Amino acid sequence: KHSADDDVLPHATKKTMADHLRKYEALFNLTPQRMRMIVEAFKESLELGLSKHGQIVPMIPTYVFGWPTSQELGNFLAVDLGGTNLRVCLVTLEGKGKFEITQAKYRLSEEQKQDEGQKLFDFCGECLKAFVDANHESGLIPKGSVLPLGFTFSYPCAQDRIDHGVLIRWTKGFGAPNTEGHDVVEMFRNSLSKHQVPAEIVALTCDTTGTLIASHYVNPKTRIACIFGTGCNAAYMEKVQDIPKIANLGIDPEMQMAINCEWGAFDSFEHENLPRTKYDQTIDESSNKPGEQAFEKLISGRYLGEILRLIICELIDEGVLFLGQNTYKIEIAYSLDTAFLSLMESDPTDELLMIIGIFNHFFALETTLAERQFFRALAKLVGRRAARLSACGIAAIVSRMGYLDEGCAVGADGSLYNKYPMFPERIHEGLFDIFGEKGKNVVTYRAEDGSGIGSAIVAAMTKFRKEAQIY
Ligand code: BGC
Ligand code: MG
Repeated sequence: KHSADDDVLPHATKKTMADHLRKYEALFNLTPQRMRMIVEAFKESLELGLSKHGQIVPMIPTYVFGWPTSQELGNFLAVDLGGTNLRVCLVTLEGKGKFEITQAKYRLSEEQKQDEGQKLFDFCGECLKAFVDANHESGLIPKGSVLPLGFTFSYPCAQDRIDHGVLIRWTKGFGAPNTEGHDVVEMFRNSLSKHQVPAEIVALTCDTTGTLIASHYVNPKTRIACIFGTGCNAAYMEKVQDIPKIANLGIDPEMQMAINCEWGAFDSFEHENLPRTKYDQTIDESSNKPGEQAFEKLISGRYLGEILRLIICELIDEGVLFLGQNTYKIEIAYSLDTAFLSLMESDPTDELLMIIGIFNHFFALETTLAERQFFRALAKLVGRRAARLSACGIAAIVSRMGYLDEGCAVGADGSLYNKYPMFPERIHEGLFDIFGEKGKNVVTYRAEDGSGIGSAIVAAMTKFRKEAQIY
């Protein structure tokens, strides 16, 4: 199939698209001044979250104390229940930043995300059982051994010790009933015994905390870790004395503890600080969690495609796009995946052939070159705003901790960071806009696998602390 021929369209088409683009540019652009205001508000939210439980940004104390020493050794299982996949891993830590990993991945269906909570954990148990059995066969896991397990559960959980966590709320479109308000370690432990899996859960971690620890394991300059994937979040280390809400627990105030910020919640409910367009509001209102995860909804991979799709639908309604074509496919909510935006931005051809393919193949729509250029420009606006807002979050932590002068490394992971063209560059550009020249001292890099390796290291650190009776 070919695209509609530009020559047969009215001459005005090109101009019209350019005019429309200007309107969206104004909506999605973020000036340095505006970014600095967001950073200030963000810093206040972080501070509040550390001072009292139940604030908008949860700032969760993780009971992961300090950095790994690179002496962590041994075999560990890791289970990663993420926004898109379930992953089970066998990790061998060999010390000095070295490790081996064997893993299996399972796709989570939309139904599983909404089905009974216990069923979801049972599925994790089943997959882990199959994985352990297979590795008994391969000889990687000795029969009769009970391996320590790190459970990466990347949703906000309130913790008062490391092997326990009460789910505060589902994010990323999950809605499994009878899980919010429950201890997810307990639920998973039930599944492990149901399926007789020879594993002992020693630590519950969030992907960001795992990423912080794993990244530091290989790059000791790391101070902050971020995830830009289906969801978005960050973790960093805070001295116990600077976490007022746990001040009375008798923990050594000089000790460092990882904080899982759960920053995706920034500006939730109040919506006072972030530049939300009407598309963002539509996404929020039609989500299963209206009002919540306000920052995440502007940034993460779960929503970026949907933002662009809503703009396209608006222009269809206004009679600007796809006149006379059947548009039902693109009118289906969430039918435009964020991966398409990545493709649109990275199309190297003058004719934008990849964009022709996307619209043709997935939506049965013909496009003109002017329209394709317009879509690509829109993708850039949406993707760039996400990266610049991400920079605001990083800047808030950097500025709170005074890391700007000495500089710091930020380990980052997630599909957006790893696959979306220019995402890291745009974050860096954003940091420059916020801090000027000094912004260059803050450098993001591709993190080590936090949910597999990181989770195993956290499990090892916990085991060590237990054995040495440091609490
Ligand atoms: C979750 C976080 C997680 C992030 C990235 C968010 O929706 O609340 O716990 O770290 O997604 O996976
Ligand atoms: Mg993940």
